[in-house]
Amino acid sequence: MKTDNRMEKIVALCKRRGFIFQSSEIYGGLNGAWDYGPLGAELKRNLKADWWRAMTQLRDDIVGMDGSILMSRAVWQASGHEATFTDPMVDCKTCKSRFRADQLATTPCPQKPSKLVNTCGGELTEPRQFNLMFKTYVGPVEDERNLTYLRPETAQAMFVQFKNVLEVSRKKLPFGIAQIGKAFRNEINPRNFTFRSREFEQMEVEFFVRPTEGKVWLEKWLADRLAWYESIGIPRSKITVLDVPEADRAFYSQGTYDLLYEFPFGTEELEGIAYRTDYDLKQHQEASGKPLEYFDEETREKFLPHVVEPSAGVDRTALALLCQAYDEEEVADDKGAKETRVVLHFHPRMAPIKAGIFPLLKNKPELVEKARSITATLRQHFPVFYDEAGAIGRRYRRQDEIGTPFGITVDFETLEGAKDGPLAGQKDTVTLRHRDSMKQERLAITDLLPRLQVALA
Ligand code: ATP
Repeated sequence: MKTDNRMEKIVALCKRRGFIFQSSEIYGGLNGAWDYGPLGAELKRNLKADWWRAMTQLRDDIVGMDGSILMSRAVWQASGHEATFTDPMVDCKTCKSRFRADQLATTPCPQKPSKLVNTCGGELTEPRQFNLMFKTYVGPVEDERNLTYLRPETAQAMFVQFKNVLEVSRKKLPFGIAQIGKAFRNEINPRNFTFRSREFEQMEVEFFVRPTEGKVWLEKWLADRLAWYESIGIPRSKITVLDVPEADRAFYSQGTYDLLYEFPFGTEELEGIAYRTDYDLKQHQEASGKPLEYFDEETREKFLPHVVEPSAGVDRTALALLCQAYDEEEVADDKGAKETRVVLHFHPRMAPIKAGIFPLLKNKPELVEKARSITATLRQHFPVFYDEAGAIGRRYRRQDEIGTPFGITVDFETLEGAKDGPLAGQKDTVTLRHRDSMKQERLAITDLLPRLQVALA
């Protein structure tokens, strides 16, 4: 286990600046549940919007859907979740806690946190299987007939609606369905901040292909997904591709890649890409009695398509973005003395706030008015933040710490004309400060929007 305090600093920043709070905090919290604050909500929205755009808008071969969280219990019986969606669990007779039997060597003992559960001396029971699905009842009568579960993955709605989506979208194989939504798992040991939660969001594609083409599409999806992570600011060098050995795969899978990110607490799964064969459609066809086959008009054949499923976690990817972006740098302050700046180097598309807008002095109405007018224009296009409080250096730092890529300062040269440079003498210019390099340039106010739009594309 790595005990680097980088993770503690990230967790503290998330709370301090409003990315992520503990759920039900004023009541002592609810283990495994998290609330995204103002900045966290924007970060997650940007992440999901980017995935959705990449999966649906930019492709001809995938369409989206938005399924319900509650589904018929029959779905979970047919999919195998009711019988086998379990993790092995052990109880400690000494401290009365429960642990995942396969994670004893990495789980700290609640009574002796410096020790791990496999060495703390507590007496453990034999492992038992524990079903991770949350039970609930549909309707007012809480009996077995009305039992169902909160979905533990979004995937099943896409299998169950396969025929409807195929018909309305008039797609031909290969084609996919994409979905983003909440999933719930009663994890035995939620931990590592949002990494393992009991309520989380997934971004999943079920990609339907001809049975002979499954392996080829598995490789294509691996390349595609790695490129996507790179495009949002997670470099290839921080991702390990695990070719999951047969013994560790679901029995129906003919190949699975796990994409692992190098988090401060260890290298752990962000996404699984699984070649699931025709397992899911076959199960639902048999259990429902409704044909789910695809009819190929060219070959006049009817068959169950095979499926490749890239399944990613929104919360885990958001956490990876935060971990990847977090940095502490030694820089010179306004007076040239050294100070440490905390900065989040988010990709501009992921950044919650795109630009901070600052009048140099708050008691100069002309500066304030110009800065407010720039704010009004830019906020039509993306989230911006107007700030007139405190020294300009402090205002920059506050935006650095939340990853705002641009700072726009309205100063006396805005009113009187630029002193030097290519815009010398020109009025209505501002300084544009770049978060990562901290370099500043002078720009006409009318050029701001197009300039930022290019950077945010
Ligand atoms: P793990 O082995 O870490 O429990 P898994 O292999 O069970 O994950 P999948 O069933 O493949 O996960 O789910 C797909 C994705 O959903 C994961 O890659 C992850 O990003 C996300 N996910 C799964 N469980 C959780 C959880 N408890 N908290 C947050 N995200 C999760």
